[in-house]
Parts: sequence; structure tokens; C-alpha cells
Amino acid sequence: MLGPPGAGKGTQAARVAESLSVPKVASGDLFRDHQARDTELGRLARTCMERGDLVPDDITIRMVMEWVEAHEGEGGFLLDGFPRTLAQAEALDREMVESGGIDRALYINVNTEELYRRLAGRWICRSCQTPCHEHSSPPAVAGKCDRCGGDLYQRDDDNAEAVQKRLGVFFKETEPLVQFYREAGILREVDGVGTVDGVGAALLETVAE
Ligand SMILES: [Zn+2]
Repeated sequence: MLGPPGAGKGTQAARVAESLSVPKVASGDLFRDHQARDTELGRLARTCMERGDLVPDDITIRMVMEWVEAHEGEGGFLLDGFPRTLAQAEALDREMVESGGIDRALYINVNTEELYRRLAGRWICRSCQTPCHEHSSPPAVAGKCDRCGGDLYQRDDDNAEAVQKRLGVFFKETEPLVQFYREAGILREVDGVGTVDGVGAALLETVAE
């Protein structure tokens, strides 16, 4: 399952996996699990992250394939936000050549303005840390927390410039990946603007096709 930040991908991945009764995993879960177990792959990943580098594809792929093999015979699986790049998608295909590769690439499509509105509208209370959203859950008094009256502020990640940069990186990386799955005939795009239930139902329909 693929989708930009703000598309609700994590929520939908959990729902779809539950509806299909298949295990799901995100690469972040794998990094945390390997580090908690202090595996060789976990140590390699940690060294990269401590240097401020991205974890190389071959380490991520080995973690994913290990997880896939551990869940064989469970009727399938869902990868949440993986692969993230064309190189990872090609490596995943090579690794899965015997089992026929993946069946579907689901893409949650949300236009940039809507993503921007969702991501850049988040504010947090300086006193009690309660989040609110200027569009979906605006405070009763501008700039003040509904719960305690504290001042609201925006985290660095949520300011306009940071959001624009994050979305830019995502689309640049993902465009070739989406094209790769489109050419393979397995890409299914679902409109991610709607209710959580509506988007979830649309995703399940594309899996059942
Ligand atoms: Zn507060």
C-alpha cells in the first residue's frame, strides 16, 4: 500500500489487513523489531541512522524478505509504505520471483492541496500537548487550547515549508514506482478524499477484483 504523507495510509493498511485476515508490516516496524532483538541487520541499520544516512535498500529488503518468509502460509500479506523507491520495488520483485511477486500495488491518491491542508494545519498546545487542526478540529478561541487555554504552536515538521519539502520528496521518489506498477498492470488507485470507511471499502474492492 502506497500513499503520500497525510493520505491516511497507516490507518487504511491496518483496516485492510484486518479485513483480509493477513499480516501487515511497515519498514519502520521492522527497524524497531530488529533493534529491539539486537540482530545483525538491526545493528547495521542503526549504524546508518546514527550517521544520519538512509538505511540502504539491501538491508531493508533483507528485513522485509525475512518477515515475508516468516509469514508464509498465512494467506498473503500487506506491506505498508514499502517499497518506497523504484530500486526497492525491483529488488522486491527479484526476491519474490519464485512466488510470482506481489499481486497488487494499492495507491491512495490525494491531491496536493488537500494533503497540504491536512498536514500543515496541525497545532499543539504548549502546556498540555493536546493537538488540534485548524480545519478539521479548530480551537474555539484562535491560538488557544480548548482543553486548558494554553498557547498553541506548530512543530517544525508541521510548518508550511517543511510540509512542502516532505511532499516534494515523496512525489519525486514515488512517481517512478507508481509508473513501474502501472506498467506491470497491478497498480490500483483509490481516491483518498472521503470518509475512512468509504476509502477503506474502495481499497478492499480493488483487492477483490
Ligand atoms: Zn492545553
